[in-house]
Amino acid sequence: MASSTVTLEKTTTIQTADAAVDRDRAAILHTPLLEGMKCGGVEAKRCCERKYELVSYDALPAFLKHNEFILDYYRSEWPIKQVLLSAFAVHNETINVWTHLIGFFVFLALTMCAATMVPVESSVSANLAISKSLLNSTSNPMILMMMSYGNGAAVAVQALRNASVESELAAAASYQVARWPFYAYLCGALFCLLMSSACHLLACHSEHASYVLLRLDYAGITGLIVTSFYPLVYYTFLCDPFFRTRYLGFITLFGAAAMAVSLMPVFEKPELRWARAGLFACMGMSGLVPIVHKMLVFGARPEAVLTTAYEMVMGAFYLAGVIVYAARVPERWMPGKFDLAGHSHQLFHVLVIAGAYAHYLAGLVYLSWRDVEGCPR
Ligand SMILES: [Zn+2]
Repeated sequence: MASSTVTLEKTTTIQTADAAVDRDRAAILHTPLLEGMKCGGVEAKRCCERKYELVSYDALPAFLKHNEFILDYYRSEWPIKQVLLSAFAVHNETINVWTHLIGFFVFLALTMCAATMVPVESSVSANLAISKSLLNSTSNPMILMMMSYGNGAAVAVQALRNASVESELAAAASYQVARWPFYAYLCGALFCLLMSSACHLLACHSEHASYVLLRLDYAGITGLIVTSFYPLVYYTFLCDPFFRTRYLGFITLFGAAAMAVSLMPVFEKPELRWARAGLFACMGMSGLVPIVHKMLVFGARPEAVLTTAYEMVMGAFYLAGVIVYAARVPERWMPGKFDLAGHSHQLFHVLVIAGAYAHYLAGLVYLSWRDVEGCPR
């Protein structure tokens, strides 16, 4: 099986003091070292070269054996330089690395987009009262969003000519809605995507690297779930400190507990795949409580309906991702056929990005809602 895996080419010369490791590896890899020893002469120079080839599942050390349905194209205990360079080579983690690395840059662009297009707290008040007076004539939340963030300045100028909004503007000028829950979510998404990408790229380097990076990966998932609650809870219960602090406190504690559990070595065992999926699914499902609460209190408001729709879409993406991740389909049905492309973890990554984007859209609606309508004083 290993002889068929020559996608990634060698690069370096190693004057290795690591002869023991080399001996072990010789049983696994078809290296020029062995060939050189056989041939001698011209090949003598090649005795010191080592070719970093991809190996089969059977040749992996235990800490890299996560999915027995992916049979080939593994990197195993490569030096860090080769591991880093392998970001640009083809192996069974290439798409896993790039799906979340591209996702990271997409969310970085969305964050910068939000930072420049969404009014900051101090300038919210200018759009606030104007939008409020204009939006009284519409119940469409998308128009609401566009007015608040799209051409807010033009709307503001026009509306400023309308003397009828002056009193509202004066009242609104003293109000600023916090931005931190929205940016906390974006930071959570960025951290999750970056840690995931780093884990997929670097974990094959060594058992220690794998141990540390897997925990950072789990911490990233936990962070994404926890910070996903912040815009939902903060903006929905902006005027209800009792529920706001309790929901935020609950999910933060839940996340801290999940992170503590994920630090335990047993947590990464392949056979506990369903337990991991279950823990993260439970965290996500607990979001149903504030969502149902939101609909009971604000069910008549278009912003509440639209954000809930986005949250349902996000939940559907995440749920599909968790099921695919834990069930390991489609590779379970045809082992070896999806080694490079199409296996469950790649689908899981794409579904996570889709879900996170749906939640970003919900976050924009929340901001728009609370910029227009703060708390009565
Ligand atoms: Zn992953």
